[in-house]
Amino acid sequence: MASLEGKVGLIVGVANKRSIAWAIAQAASAEGAQVVLTYQGRFEEHVKELAEGLATPPLILPLDVQDDAQIDAVFAQIGERHGGLDFVVHGAAFAPREELTAPFVMTSREGFRTSLDISAYSLIALARGAKPLMAARGGGSLMTLTYLGSQRVFPNYNVMGVAKAALEASVRYLAADLGPDNIRVNAISAGPIKTLAAAGIGGFSNILGIVRERAPLRRTVETSEVADAALFLLGPAGRGVTGEVLMVDAGYHVVGM
Ligand code: NAD
Repeated sequence: MASLEGKVGLIVGVANKRSIAWAIAQAASAEGAQVVLTYQGRFEEHVKELAEGLATPPLILPLDVQDDAQIDAVFAQIGERHGGLDFVVHGAAFAPREELTAPFVMTSREGFRTSLDISAYSLIALARGAKPLMAARGGGSLMTLTYLGSQRVFPNYNVMGVAKAALEASVRYLAADLGPDNIRVNAISAGPIKTLAAAGIGGFSNILGIVRERAPLRRTVETSEVADAALFLLGPAGRGVTGEVLMVDAGYHVVGM
């Protein structure tokens, strides 16, 4: 039997065909899941077009993670349509462009607030909304996407590194909070991949070049590889894993030089 057969999953963070969340949506759908997709305003057309390629037509809903009313509406509609929820993929992140080009010491209060709100707090808000729907199913699995910039300094990653550190800490606190309800919470720390979000980081192609040169596998990773690891965390094979940050980065994080 396919590993996600009969499961319902909410996937937040599809912008276009290069989005990591889109690779996860495709993989989950191929494993039998019924996915629910959300889009942030301007990506509506892209997401609706992409969704036509999925085996079962998904529910597609607008969601700006800064908007509590939209978050509530998403879970209300999932409840109405599906009666419960088995997994959530959180792939939303944002920092204002100037925060990803100026020196870190120049990080503005507003830039910090926005980056942490969209990139870290949103996981907590989604987990809260998902909890009763997952409890109705006897448990569930949430996962988010993070980057090694949470622990090490990468040029221009700046406030996004701080947001990822907060996100990873939130994974651990949520795992502890929701574990008694059989809800697991994990992250995948993906190696650098050329996506829309990555394009906002000054000098991103230098990071790709260094990974190709120094990672144990001598290459970068693809979104499909992140998606395969996501299937493990979302599905029954990962049932004993929670509070974890799984590195899917061609091994780059183990290298000292
Ligand atoms: P992407 O640009 O395709 O996805 C980012 C998504 O965040 C978009 O769908 C965008 O609509 C969404 N988003 C931003 N602000 C939002 C808001 N206010 N409300 C709702 N959605 C919002 O890029 P991606 O690289 O696929 O990014 C997905 C996740 O993977 C992000 O958390 C990113 O930090 C993480 N990640 C990316 C890389 C990489 O190199 N690309 C590496 C590690 C982790």
